[in-house]
Order: sequence, then structure tokens, then C-alpha cells
Amino acid sequence: MVVANAMLLIIGRALNMLKSQIDAQGKAFEETGGFSERLTAKCLEAREKDQPSAPECPLCGKPMRRRNSTKGRFWGCGGFPDCKGTRPIGQEGL
Ligand SMILES: [Zn+2]
Repeated sequence: MVVANAMLLIIGRALNMLKSQIDAQGKAFEETGGFSERLTAKCLEAREKDQPSAPECPLCGKPMRRRNSTKGRFWGCGGFPDCKGTRPIGQEGL
């Protein structure tokens, strides 16, 4: 009986430790999650810079991005959805 009580006590402590560990991991995830989100934003930025042939938007002058629609490929403004500027993609891909 004493042994069983001791076991329950140990299990209870272990659960408490586990709980505080999970809480700490949750906090760490919030921080690192924010970090990896910023990293993703940087990656997207770099990828856009890898498109030197992108023309400028005729409406706002921002670099455009290749878009796909049911009607085919076209250039869409990088400021979409704030700007709806588009250009047709020519035969040379520009
Ligand atoms: Zn635009």
C-alpha cells in the first residue's frame, strides 16, 4: 500500500514535470515559429529578386510576378490584391 502511494506520488510529479515541459515547448514554438515565418518571408523576397526579367506594373510600377489562370499565363502586379495591374506574357516569356 505504501509502495503504491509512493508510485502515485512519483507519477503525479512526473505528470507535473511533463506539463511544465510542454508549456515551455509551446512558448519556444511560438518564438521559433515567428522566426521561421520571418525566414520564409526572406526566402520569398530572395526568390522574387531572382526574376530580373519581371516587368514593372503599368499601374503602380512594382515588379510583376508570373501568374497562371484558366485563360493562360500572364504577369500580375506584385502588389496584388491592392493593385490589379496585369500584362500579357509575350512569346519570349516576358
Ligand atoms: Zn501594380
